[in-house]
Amino acid sequence: MKYLDEFSDPVLAGKLVEQIHAVTTQPWSMMEVCGGQTHSIIRHGIDQLLPEGVEMIHGPGCPVCVTPLEIIDKALAIAQQPGVIFCSFGDMLRVPGSSEDLFSIKSAGGDVRVVYSPLDALKLARENPDRQVVFFGIGFETTAPANAMTVYQAKKQGIPNFSLLVSHVLVPPAMAAIMDSPKCRVQAFLAAGHVCSVMGTSEYPALTEKYKVPIVVTGFEPLDILEGIRRTVIQLESGRHELENAYSRAVTAEGNLPAMAMLRDVFEVTDRTWRGIGMIPQSGWKLSERYAEYDAEARFSVTDIHTDESALCRSGEVLQGLIKPHECAAFGKECTPRKPLGATMVSSEGACAAYYTYRRLDHLELSETRLVDSR
Ligand code: SF4
Repeated sequence: MKYLDEFSDPVLAGKLVEQIHAVTTQPWSMMEVCGGQTHSIIRHGIDQLLPEGVEMIHGPGCPVCVTPLEIIDKALAIAQQPGVIFCSFGDMLRVPGSSEDLFSIKSAGGDVRVVYSPLDALKLARENPDRQVVFFGIGFETTAPANAMTVYQAKKQGIPNFSLLVSHVLVPPAMAAIMDSPKCRVQAFLAAGHVCSVMGTSEYPALTEKYKVPIVVTGFEPLDILEGIRRTVIQLESGRHELENAYSRAVTAEGNLPAMAMLRDVFEVTDRTWRGIGMIPQSGWKLSERYAEYDAEARFSVTDIHTDESALCRSGEVLQGLIKPHECAAFGKECTPRKPLGATMVSSEGACAAYYTYRRLDHLELSETRLVDSR
């Protein structure tokens, strides 16, 4: 297949669904790790086509959703400082901090700018030598190489007024933390294809072996996801737990070697807190000693931050696959994409936002049916 829309072909999708039904003999629960996969599954109703008892658990792979509140509050504190140009991708502007978001800082006069690449922020720093320019570097292994390259370029070009507020997280340690949870129901993973396109697949055999779970590297289009599910169910039904690559058009075992070399140069592994989950050891990156002078947290001394999550929000349970978004009492009421209480409602990759966009009427209709039944 050559074009993207061919990966949504309904006839081929139907055949894959038939094959999944044919091989399934019992209930299985599998987690799609990435928020992009969650969005695709809910948007296309893929979970509703699966055999009864085959459940998709939505994982923590939305970078906006897992960025800890403490880092958001630090971003807000830095963005309010005079002389700062605070740059971010657009989806971080509405993420609620303890009391406000970057949009409110911008509307109150703060110089908050949406950029499409961290290199745009570096250009701003070059053009504004009397201002401090900060880029909000969040995300998984996918966004980290561009951020690493920008810090590398800042050093190489001698641009001292650029810094990075870093909150990078790593997927394999999060998968291990999910499996270590006593409440874990995950029996297999669809691994995030774009992460593997950067990092390769070498970290996964240790996980399949330790936790006895199949891991199938999967893409994001409907056929990619159905193929990932088909291969996963075949492994589960045959009692195997192996690594398989169902996204070979983008992923190689060794990954993107130049990107990995850049990451190793600029970052080093550190403990990271994941919003809604807590601290996972060795699950993130921070700037290495060589690039420590570009660390915005150190440059702006934003250490005295006290965070305060919404008492209503159950996004931690959503992120760990313990509840579905509509099981949160605030879903679609106190919490909507226009007025999110938690990060999983902000990003289009967040499970709560995906359910709100594509499923909220299902649940309204369900409750109305119940109302009629009870009369
Ligand atoms: S619906 Fe809103 S309040 Fe509930 S878990 Fe999701 S983000 Fe949090």
